[in-house]
Amino acid sequence: MRRPRPPKKHKTVFAPVDGAAPEYFECPACGFLSGDPAFLSPDVHCPLCGQVAGERRRWPADRIRRLDERIRRYQADGESEVVVILAMTLLETILEDLLDRMLAAHGADLKVRRMVMDTQRAIGIRLGKLFPALAGEEFEEAASELGYADFPKRWRRLREARNAFIHDSPFTGPQEHLDQRAADEAMMLLDQAYRLFVLMNNRFVADDGLHGE
Ligand SMILES: [Zn+2]
Repeated sequence: MRRPRPPKKHKTVFAPVDGAAPEYFECPACGFLSGDPAFLSPDVHCPLCGQVAGERRRWPADRIRRLDERIRRYQADGESEVVVILAMTLLETILEDLLDRMLAAHGADLKVRRMVMDTQRAIGIRLGKLFPALAGEEFEEAASELGYADFPKRWRRLREARNAFIHDSPFTGPQEHLDQRAADEAMMLLDQAYRLFVLMNNRFVADDGLHGE
């Protein structure tokens, strides 16, 4: 495993949390994500690589924003089970997005990225093997360093609750309900996940070209 990268000198600006999917803008040159609305303007220099080039894409993508919107609607309607199931799907989708970016940052072309994501579908493998191979450290370690030490554990617990609800377990039997508390927890994780994945993107994907890697 290679050594973890030294912390970068820029600061990530978070988008406000206001009951909707946050809005980040991406530097097309280095992949840096910023929640600073000023960053949308192509005249503003990227704080990481200094470029002003090109149009800045919105993150997350529209399909994720649409899913986010529906989850919040179900939450408002008290549909706890649907909220947990869809929120877990959304978290796995943004993880996939992050891993895909990390692969690209390692120089993998589209064909390789597709092959890896197609063959490594299990979330346990993605978090336990793929992430450390790309980041040079465990997911839990990275989350903790970035200020989200509880996140991996809480995410795992909610995945287990979701799995127990969907599948009968030979050990505990089916879980009959995902209650309001589980749904509230899912919404909290959702808001945290955006921030954590932006931080991970800016740490493991965005590249100012000074690493020699
Ligand atoms: Zn940049």
